[in-house]
Amino acid sequence: MTTVAIVGCTHAGTFAATSILREHPDWSVHVFERGDTLSFLSCGIALWVGDHVSDPRKMFYSSPAELEKLGATMHMRTDVTDIDVAGKTLEFRSLETGDSQTLRFDKLVVTTGSRPVVPSIPGIESDRVQLCKNWDNAVQIKERAHGAKSVVVIGAGYIGAELAEQFSTIGVETTLIDAADRVLANNFDKLITDQVEERYRKHGVTLALGEKVTAFTDNADGTVTVTTTGGAYTAQFAVLAVGFLPNTDLVRGQVDTLANGAIITNEYMQASVPYVYAAGDSATVHYNPTGELDYIPLATNAVRQGALIGQNIDVPTRTYMGTQATSAVQLYDLSLAASGLTQAGADRRGMDVRSTELVEDYRPAFMLSTAPVTSILSWDPQTRLVKGAQFCSTADISGAANTVSVAIQAGFTIDMLANVDFLFQPNFDQPVYYVGAVAAKAVAEQGA
Ligand SMILES: Cc1cc2nc3c(=O)[nH]c(=O)nc-3n(C[C@H](O)[C@H](O)[C@H](O)COP(=O)(O)OP(=O)(O)OC[C@H]3O[C@@H](n4cnc5c(N)ncnc54)[C@H](O)[C@@H]3O)c2cc1C
Repeated sequence: MTTVAIVGCTHAGTFAATSILREHPDWSVHVFERGDTLSFLSCGIALWVGDHVSDPRKMFYSSPAELEKLGATMHMRTDVTDIDVAGKTLEFRSLETGDSQTLRFDKLVVTTGSRPVVPSIPGIESDRVQLCKNWDNAVQIKERAHGAKSVVVIGAGYIGAELAEQFSTIGVETTLIDAADRVLANNFDKLITDQVEERYRKHGVTLALGEKVTAFTDNADGTVTVTTTGGAYTAQFAVLAVGFLPNTDLVRGQVDTLANGAIITNEYMQASVPYVYAAGDSATVHYNPTGELDYIPLATNAVRQGALIGQNIDVPTRTYMGTQATSAVQLYDLSLAASGLTQAGADRRGMDVRSTELVEDYRPAFMLSTAPVTSILSWDPQTRLVKGAQFCSTADISGAANTVSVAIQAGFTIDMLANVDFLFQPNFDQPVYYVGAVAAKAVAEQGA
């Protein structure tokens, strides 16, 4: 009988276990997870802080019992401490009893995910500096937020941006720090981030942008002071949200990785050693807008990659389609969504990409209400291929980012996107849907 070891069980591990057991119910599948829960939706942490979660127990979509029912042997509260890839064995230790054991496997699935980046800054080990990644962190943040007067959030990416927003809406005096000179600088271009910054200021959030943190100092009154290159900010606690690194030390040097440790896989999710598979935050993605391997830790990638492992673990069958890193966030009354490259992201990569901006109401002026949508479409001036798009409005624009995701995936040019058969109905859009309109503007700017 084939024995599979799955190491790590949040999204990639849960989807891998489920898909493997569906395809191979007779295989022996061992799942190792150091936590006592699995499948935690960390995307709900900020919403829980702001009291927008009906029941925190619903932030899990699977359980050890459910995987056991499918036939898995579950090793919860168990740390995998060593993996010998060539010898096909792993060591694991129960966090309850401290006992260690060895398992021989035929196939190994590495879904160990990622860990928060913790830069070496004096004082960062303070227990007033809080991480934001897993269920334990969620509980800590929720407890700290309750009745807190002030917080400093470090990192204005998606996670820090959402936390800062929710803290400010429950009356916590909030400072948001980032070394970049804009919020969400990796996700949106300036025309959009200016609107977000205006919302933060309106809600009393202090923005400390273009400032690098240089020290954390605990004060006798229980507060912590965060010193930056531009100032000093004191609060009851600080949340560090400055990115993630793949958790792959167990297999480092045994399979091919990127410099940051992300496991390189082929289109069947196989690592450089064919009986090793990887998915999610521990692995690379194929980023379609550049055609290159990249590291983009998102649940969207983890679930799709994890699910593919079941279909490929015996016979390579179904290929991974890659990602556009399509994503969205709600900040105050603004919905923001994006897919593929921003202009700033393309510039950072040295790519020749142009962007077209369009601001127009999403539906006709005769309706009793309407709202402007900011659309930015990025495209390659040589091939005319669509490379990315961003949308921002008080209306729901999330479907537009998904639409452009399909266009990038399918290799659409701006000309094709401008001529797609999009619906028109005044409740929903203008005679020309803003996705088609921004593409038509790009065609006009570039010339036929
Ligand atoms: C606050 C927050 C909000 C987010 N919001 C979104 C969002 O809205 N949309 C989106 O697409 N993505 C979002 N993400 C990203 C998303 O959560 C991650 O991409 C996703 O969790 C990756 O899943 P994974 O299973 O690959 O890895 P992880 O979630 O990192 O899970 C890895 C698991 O492996 C276990 N493990 C690691 N090493 C060992 C070992 N040696 N032994 C045993 N167990 C081990 C860990 O305990 C962990 O449970 C968010 C992330 C955070 C932190």
